[in-house]
Amino acid sequence: MQPSLYDLGVSSLEPSAPLEVPPCPVCEETRATPRFAVQDSERRIVICCGCGLGSLHPMPDAREVASFYPDEYYGPPGTKFRGLVEGLVRLVGSRHARFLSRGLRPAARVLDVGCGRGVFLEALLDRGFEVHGFETSESATRGADPRARFRIASNLASADYAPASFDEVIIWHVLEHLVDPAGTLAEIRRLLRPDGRLVVAVPNFSSFQARWAGPDWFHLDPPRHLYHFPLDGLIQLLRRTGFAPQSTHHFSLRQNPFGWVQSALNRSPRLPRNGLYVLLHQRGPDEPAPFDAATRLRLRLAYLLGMPVGLGLSVLETWLRSGGSVHVVARPEALTA
Ligand SMILES: [Zn+2]
Repeated sequence: MQPSLYDLGVSSLEPSAPLEVPPCPVCEETRATPRFAVQDSERRIVICCGCGLGSLHPMPDAREVASFYPDEYYGPPGTKFRGLVEGLVRLVGSRHARFLSRGLRPAARVLDVGCGRGVFLEALLDRGFEVHGFETSESATRGADPRARFRIASNLASADYAPASFDEVIIWHVLEHLVDPAGTLAEIRRLLRPDGRLVVAVPNFSSFQARWAGPDWFHLDPPRHLYHFPLDGLIQLLRRTGFAPQSTHHFSLRQNPFGWVQSALNRSPRLPRNGLYVLLHQRGPDEPAPFDAATRLRLRLAYLLGMPVGLGLSVLETWLRSGGSVHVVARPEALTA
């Protein structure tokens, strides 16, 4: 069975000379500085000398990327987390749906790119929108709400959606997983109506959370996260691909308190890397609980005691405009050509 990859260690590298790398998708710079080493791998996380974008180097090809997402990655059909946490994720999903549906016309067409099991889809369907989901893997959508319309293809352009056919496109914590983030944004630009909007969420590589945690940052998630966007880099990429950013949001109840807690726990050599995330992840019925009983107890205690602190830090980072993850609302720029 494919290892979960969540426990891959990451360590800081001594400063060294820049490497020659493929052109940066944000600024086209071809030099980058090695920052982190990934355990059991030749790969490094390197930092673009032009814009500060982090990327995995060398970049895996599409076939290798697909191997990072075994069926178990998505959990048993319809759920990804265990018990109470799944309930919380769904509650937060419906809160997000309120944000995502603000200002949309009744029965608007919404596309969720990388929709997974469709937490947003369900909440948006309940609000009466025509909801579409795109995924690269059939197993990701298993158990999702059958009212949504799904297309599965190796990339968004191959899904063959009609141009200017959506009022809103959501790409939520997906861009950092893609081999070609610029191409995907350009395709989204093509699919949006001229008065449509894009909502894009990513972990924020320039946040306090990322800088404080360094190699222990939960969202480094190698090798699945191919890119690490500083907020300015994301804005620059949106502009390059034909969008006018409208607003940036730094608070995410779903991502940011947990990001603080898991990153803090990753600093402890006595705890398994990303152990809390693995413990909260849904398991198959005959799959044993991970770790020994004492470690599980330590992780659960850390969760209970840590989440209020994580929530406080998330409020503070929001106030300082440095969310550990961010989401940006952008409109298509009028085409001049
Ligand atoms: Zn760059």
